Amino acid sequence: MRHMQAFISYFEARSIVLEHVPTLGFEKVPLDAALGRTLAQTIESGELIPPFDNSAMDGFVVRSSDVTEPGVELPIVGTIAAGDGAETPLPPGTCMRIMTGAPIPDGADAVIPVEQADVDGTRVRFRIAAQNPGKLIRRAGENVKIGDRVLGPGLRITPPIIGILASLGYASVDVARRPVVGVVATGNELVDVSETPGAGQIRDANGPVLAAQIATAGGVVDGPHRVGDHRERLRRTLESRASADVLVVSGGVSMGEYDFVREELEEIGFEPFFWKVRQKPGKPILFGMIDRTPVFGLPGNPVSASVCFEQYVRPAMASMLGRSEVSPPREKAVLDEDVSKRAGLHHFVRGRLRYDDVLRVAPTGPQGSHISHSLVLADCLIHLPEDMADPRRGTEVAVERLRW
Ligand code: AMP
Ligand code: MG
Repeated sequence: MRHMQAFISYFEARSIVLEHVPTLGFEKVPLDAALGRTLAQTIESGELIPPFDNSAMDGFVVRSSDVTEPGVELPIVGTIAAGDGAETPLPPGTCMRIMTGAPIPDGADAVIPVEQADVDGTRVRFRIAAQNPGKLIRRAGENVKIGDRVLGPGLRITPPIIGILASLGYASVDVARRPVVGVVATGNELVDVSETPGAGQIRDANGPVLAAQIATAGGVVDGPHRVGDHRERLRRTLESRASADVLVVSGGVSMGEYDFVREELEEIGFEPFFWKVRQKPGKPILFGMIDRTPVFGLPGNPVSASVCFEQYVRPAMASMLGRSEVSPPREKAVLDEDVSKRAGLHHFVRGRLRYDDVLRVAPTGPQGSHISHSLVLADCLIHLPEDMADPRRGTEVAVERLRW
């Protein structure tokens, strides 16, 4: 109940959220289901990658002491393809054909590319000496050594991570359990996307948007559930989602006559932590816990809901997943336009980046919290801190790329 009346700063609000969210357990998934999940184990290599010395090119494998100058001719005594074992050593004074990825036979220490060799029946003449022996040999363990700590918990599993796991023989891997996130969109005015709105009604946009944001943040959506501004129905809807890992509510958290979300949450055991943040959009934003479930009451204006999701819910989910990076790194960019802003609130401005000599950013258009079109055009949020007023074109600002 710490900060319910006073306004707090965006930074305080973020740290309160990140301080309170719990972490989730983990589960094993097959490798082909691991993409985008969060690694929950340390991967220490028990093997070498590559597992054996092998050729980096198609060519001939030789003893470098046999080919000390251009023009040497040697008999070809065999061929080693990728997938062959290198059973027989290379006899002195001979060579073997070798393919990329094929094992280097004992005794050999150099590969001469096929482009530098003229074959005549069972003999080959080399145009070059075997200089730099070993240059075209990929040594066992050059990529990964036994005991290397290759990957650690908290990484989002990307395609190259899948590659390393496959090379090391991980047919399955421990990943953080996905949080189940309940979504409740409140408002008497809301109808489903499939319906034609009557007088005074609008289609529910936040429900589908928040569901999509949750999916891109690695969560499983429970909902979206739509409910009117009716105390009992609202309470029942909230109550039946209160055991989710996270609960996200849209609308009804402001000071209006029909904004019942906070009071009805309190009826079901909600402990509020903050409600007012010195930020725009999203000045009224409710955060607290029902037992171990973090609950976010986001403003109903579509841009406010989406932006607040990015600023609070996505980092909270990343922290619950044990991600090593809970939000994208801030980058510096130069404002391409004057922006009007009074000091006092931290602004998130929808922006679009471009690069010429430096990274530059411009607002994408009108910034009203109901203008979702300017969010469609945005690829980043420009952070304008509380104390900044009317930044001019040329001002250096912090930007955060949208990753959805
Ligand atoms: P509220 O936060 O409930 O006061 O709503 C603020 C504004 O956002 C009002 O204009 C609502 O009609 C609008 N709004 C609320 N919920 C949604 C929603 N789910 N989809 C689209 N607009 C909404
Ligand atoms: Mg409302």
